[in-house]
Amino acid sequence: MNERRNSPRIAVYPGSFDPVTKGHMDIIQRASRQFDKLIVAVLNNLSKKPLFTVEERKLLLAEVTAHLPNVEVDSFRDLLVNYMDYKQAHVIVRGIRSVTDFEYELQLASTNHKLNSEVETIFMMTNPKYSYLSSSVVKEIASFHGDVSDLVPPEVDRAMRKKFPDKPSGD
Ligand code: ADP
Repeated sequence: MNERRNSPRIAVYPGSFDPVTKGHMDIIQRASRQFDKLIVAVLNNLSKKPLFTVEERKLLLAEVTAHLPNVEVDSFRDLLVNYMDYKQAHVIVRGIRSVTDFEYELQLASTNHKLNSEVETIFMMTNPKYSYLSSSVVKEIASFHGDVSDLVPPEVDRAMRKKFPDKPSGD
């Protein structure tokens, strides 16, 4: 118990981050103030078809969090609770935008608690400015060459333009 109290407070913020948005950045910034170390961990999920590879997502996250010295960027493909063990982290950070998020997140948090009761999930409420914002929305807009510069950091905006270089033609 004492050992725990003296050990660094390490939290993991897991997610797809495909790509990282200003909504994620808001959570990262706020969470990084609450812990000694915050590990932003990209889930290497084989069942999803992402726009950015795990390496690209990690690179973007590293660029946009470079000013936050206690933030580390990593990826994992293990069960989250096993990854937490490996990193000696005890807190999972997740963001909540809506009641729909809450229902999904409650199930996830309860499952993780069942798998390892030492692990605690902490929820951070979205900044109302970004409550509508998701990676999917950003990808949808960018795929039609809409302006996403207000929704993502400039590094991500540039990367999105490279992914969708051509204007769609005709109808
Ligand atoms: P996942 O596929 O695990 O949901 P995401 O990258 O979509 O990964 O999201 C990671 C976490 O960030 C989730 O907890 C999600 O609810 C939260 N999140 C995403 N967008 C926002 C936002 N705009 N405001 C607050 N939290 C957010």
